[in-house]
Amino acid sequence: MTYTASESKRPMLRSLFRGLLRRCPSCGIGKSFKGYVKVADSCSSCGEALGHIRADDIPPYFTILIVGHIVVPSILYLEQTAPPEFWVHMAVWPALTLLLTLIFLPLVKGVVVNLIWALRIRGDET
Ligand SMILES: [Zn+2]
Repeated sequence: MTYTASESKRPMLRSLFRGLLRRCPSCGIGKSFKGYVKVADSCSSCGEALGHIRADDIPPYFTILIVGHIVVPSILYLEQTAPPEFWVHMAVWPALTLLLTLIFLPLVKGVVVNLIWALRIRGDET
C-alpha cells in the first residue's frame, strides 16, 4: 500500500506508546488532549486533526477492567493474610479505587484515541 505525504504510515506500537504519554499519535510532540480527557481538535505541533476521534465508552471500560484487577485481588490477598478491621476496608478501598481510576482513565483514553487514529477509523463507518 502506498501513502501520500499527508497519509503516512501509522505504526501501531509507536501510536500506542505516544497515547500512553497523551501525545499526538502523528508527531509525538504535541499534546492530543486539551483537558483531563477532552481530545484536542488538532495537534498543537503538527496540526494533525484529532477532534473527530470518538473513543466513547472504551476508555472507561478498560479502566474499570484494569482497576478492578488491581483492587479486588488486593482486597482478597489482605483478607487472607492479615484481615483488617471493617472501617479500614471502608476507608482504603473506595479511596484507592477512585485514585486509580483517576490515574488510569486519561492514560487509557490516550491509548484508545491513538489506537483509533492508527487504525484510520473515522467514526462514520457503517
Ligand atoms: Zn502532532
